[in-house]
Amino acid sequence: MPTVSTSLPVVCAVWPLPQPVFTNVLPKVIHNREVTAGDRPRGPASGKAPEDISRFSFKLSTDKPVSLSPDQADTSATMPRKCYVRVALDVPIPALYDYCSAQVVEVGQRVIVPFGRREMVGMVVERPAAPAIEATQLRAVSQVLDDLPPMPDDWLRLMEFAARYYQRPLGEVIMPALPAPLRRAHAYTGKRAGTGPVRRLEKRLQKATAELAELPASVPPSLTDEQFAAVAEIVAAQGHKVFLVHGITGSGKTEVYLHAAQDMLSRGRQVLFLVPEINLTPQLETLLQARFSQTEGVGRLAVLHSGLADGERLKAWYRALTGDARILVGTRLAVTAPMPELGLIIVDEEHDASYKQQDGLRYSARDLAIWRAYDRDIPAVLGSATPSLESWSHADQGRYQRLSITKRAQATAMPEVKLVDTRRLRLDQGVSPHVLTAMEARLNEGEQVLVFLNRRGYAPVLRCESCGWVSQCSRCTAHTVLHRRPGRRAALQCHHCGQHSFVPRACPCCGDHDLKPMGRGTQRIEEFLAERFPHARIARIDADSTRLKGSAERLFTQVHEGEVDILVGTQMVAKGHDFANLGLVAVLNADAMLFAQDFRAPERLFAQLMQVAGRAGRRRAGSEVLVQTDYPDQPVYRALQRHDYVGFAQYALEEREALALPPYSYQALLVAEGKQLADSIEFLSLARDLPAAAPESYPTVGHITLYDPVPLRIVRVANVERAQLLVESVSRPALQRFLSQWSVDLFRAGRDARVRYSLEVDPFEI
Ligand code: ADP
Ligand code: ZN
Ligand code: ZN
Repeated sequence: MPTVSTSLPVVCAVWPLPQPVFTNVLPKVIHNREVTAGDRPRGPASGKAPEDISRFSFKLSTDKPVSLSPDQADTSATMPRKCYVRVALDVPIPALYDYCSAQVVEVGQRVIVPFGRREMVGMVVERPAAPAIEATQLRAVSQVLDDLPPMPDDWLRLMEFAARYYQRPLGEVIMPALPAPLRRAHAYTGKRAGTGPVRRLEKRLQKATAELAELPASVPPSLTDEQFAAVAEIVAAQGHKVFLVHGITGSGKTEVYLHAAQDMLSRGRQVLFLVPEINLTPQLETLLQARFSQTEGVGRLAVLHSGLADGERLKAWYRALTGDARILVGTRLAVTAPMPELGLIIVDEEHDASYKQQDGLRYSARDLAIWRAYDRDIPAVLGSATPSLESWSHADQGRYQRLSITKRAQATAMPEVKLVDTRRLRLDQGVSPHVLTAMEARLNEGEQVLVFLNRRGYAPVLRCESCGWVSQCSRCTAHTVLHRRPGRRAALQCHHCGQHSFVPRACPCCGDHDLKPMGRGTQRIEEFLAERFPHARIARIDADSTRLKGSAERLFTQVHEGEVDILVGTQMVAKGHDFANLGLVAVLNADAMLFAQDFRAPERLFAQLMQVAGRAGRRRAGSEVLVQTDYPDQPVYRALQRHDYVGFAQYALEEREALALPPYSYQALLVAEGKQLADSIEFLSLARDLPAAAPESYPTVGHITLYDPVPLRIVRVANVERAQLLVESVSRPALQRFLSQWSVDLFRAGRDARVRYSLEVDPFEI
């Protein structure tokens, strides 16, 4: 099988199940709701004003839920039936399943149930008075898992909202949000299951707490006026409010977060702190541990990210649930961690693309964080030097409160940004004489230099000089990238499907031996600079050099400790790192991103360049940034030169408004993947025509634009051919209304189609 995303709705022919009845049912009621999102006053949904996700009017379905029998009837009808439960299971079917239980089960508890021939862990989301199928057809819960208290109501509401908003079956949202050991039936029923993962963890935790060592406390710096003002606003917030901390790089946003967190902790509440990258967690973890170990006690911090082993992940999640952890620092997946005493959510670098999950439930952790804060009636703090245009326009409209920090915390000037017009320059391996000269000068002064190139590998393509053949992936419509490997033969690697092959000794087309790398990646630049500056210590940080666990941390430590003179890196080096001695940043091929098709490309380029430029001169004056470009007049570069996010945002928003692009409209993207492009296109055409076939089911279709299906830019990946269909509306409620019906019809249509499909709400890349 090709390696396509595993979590697309696949049709369920494998289980002995009755024909599913399609429903857009999610549990009608989740008990004891404290706050119902739908109960709150909401502003009118005007076409123009962008709305954040929390303004999306969230109404629970009033349709009668229809549930499916998980299997044929259980004929031993004599068993006692204390209660009926409606269970969410991780199966790609938009339905819930009813069971009976001899034991009383609470909503939010996990149960092991028979499903077809399997035993699965599911979660009880409702206790209906009567099952939706014949009582005699009900099967019984095999085991009630009571090693955890029922999941909190607000957690269930978050799951329910995510399922509804992102158009996924509830079970496919709830179950993957639990740590793996909690959703495996054999973790409880297997031979070596013993008392189960939670009890085992509890034993380990009891032993562990005794061993924690006291950390030296770190004293916070006294805040600058702007920091102080920002903190004062945040801590004064009553109930829900979203703050957008717009602070230039080096302005000390972290300190603002820490003070706000401190305040919330001292009121006995938990704090959720989201960061975009795993690489950033160790630095932050150390800082937080040192800062809070005095007030909160040692070890009251937990860290949660996808790089953790199952057991570690369970531990952090469990400590958040029990309230043992007062602060949870994590990447996007941490947004679904249960935190019963949650009082504040912080989203650092809120514009970052890593907050968007790219498969399965394609959620935005930032958006869910905002909804969660809204639902719990608590403040959320978003921060960035280059906020997303969505958030910026919310602030423009007063939905978010903007808190600006315009000066650097440590009185150093912003680096000077210079554009190097490369149109008439002779470049040496893509590097201009200006950059080489500046590097030399900085190195002579003992300063560090960062060379930024967003392309890993040695060269993006291998080419035959005599016939023009270029290296191509056999499974994708993409070039293969040349990678040099120390001590091994060079390889051609496809960056789309991951396929590796050796570099051919001769041209596969004409037999010539004159094969040359074309273009440059980080490996080649590293090699070139090593020749050019033989005395400099060079390190390269990209996805290849940091593949091994711990290697990224090690490399960054070397840089921080001044053991590296020249750092060559991709976007991995741009974020959050505080390099003390960096005097020069050189950006080599920014233009590559300038003309990308995606309408967000300029925004992303600008953010990335601001980030990378912001690494310079954080502790020293007189630093500079050199950006090589063939297009020095582009607004992105002009704004960068002036460090002018505000000007850039205004320009970009005007352009978006003129074209009715987000945030002035809302989008969803349907992607189909098939063996043949024609199949994918055919499915999308069918999908596009669904509303016309049943207009009465689509009351808002008049406010929806359905574009034509088009092939993806890289059509074939791993022998799967892909096409997409964009759906757009200026009204979020209209789009949501449309999608909830469409997703049901798509599921039905998808059963007979020869393609897999995925539906993404608020796509980040189109
Ligand atoms: P940002 O995330 O806004 O780019 P950081 O939070 O990384 O900036 O802060 C930049 C540097 O300034 C850090 O080294 C931090 O320790 C320091 N810093 C922050 N606030 C202060 C302050 N009030 N006084 C002195 N130094 C500060
Ligand atoms: Zn050839
Ligand atoms: Zn490939």
